Amino acid sequence: MLEIVGIDKSFGQSRILKGCSLDVRRGETVVLIGPSGSGKSTLLRCVNLLEPADGGDIFFEGANITGDFANAARIRREIGMVFQNFELFQHLSAAQNIMLAPMKVLGLSRADAHDVALDLLRKVRISDKADAFPDELSGGQQQRVAIARALAMKPKLMLYDEPTSALDPEMIREVLDVMADLSAEGMTSLVVTHEMGFARRAADKIVFMEDGRIVETASSEAFFGGSVNERAQRFLDQIL
Ligand code: ATP
Ligand code: MG
Repeated sequence: MLEIVGIDKSFGQSRILKGCSLDVRRGETVVLIGPSGSGKSTLLRCVNLLEPADGGDIFFEGANITGDFANAARIRREIGMVFQNFELFQHLSAAQNIMLAPMKVLGLSRADAHDVALDLLRKVRISDKADAFPDELSGGQQQRVAIARALAMKPKLMLYDEPTSALDPEMIREVLDVMADLSAEGMTSLVVTHEMGFARRAADKIVFMEDGRIVETASSEAFFGGSVNERAQRFLDQIL
């Protein structure tokens, strides 16, 4: 579904991504971990064409989308992204946040978009919050609205960038449960997270990134079975 081949990215003089390669197959959930500043967000932003890569190729469903900014709108429709800070529209209710893109981009009627929103709010387990505004919702609820909003475009791939790192501990679980359900239903996902409980539950593959390089890719079994390289192990010892 997604093949990242030797991606390079610099900001000014600093080389941030140094030939990163990573595959996500259809139906797979891949968890990307690594120290702060290692380039995880930059890599996701390159995939979603929020950032141009300087070199290498990104294939999505077989098509080379590297630098394909002419088709960025279509590509972003097929690749949903969830950020650390939710980024909901504050002046819109939960349902309206979800309805916006299906109406504007997919051309759904207001009534149909509303039905889609209610279905998705049920899926992320907050059907009673359709009319609440973001500032009336907990962080965990806001993040679940953000997930629902991404799902409203029926993406083929979901990217999550530390979706629970801005949440209080008691809210992390409810967001991870929704993500794990989606993974179990076969949603192809690339997830930057340090929640190793989620990784153990939902990941098919764990990728460890350090200083702009992918330094370990392991199946979940191998990873949690302890067969990871020394650098990845050292990082894990710090976060666990
Ligand atoms: P974290 O775990 O803290 O989120 P990360 O692995 O996601 O870290 P990135 O946000 O990808 O790391 O950043 C990698 C490096 O690139 C950092 O040194 C950062 O300062 C730099 N960087 C990221 N975006 C930009 C930008 N727009 N301009 C200049 N430097 C940037
Ligand atoms: Mg980041």
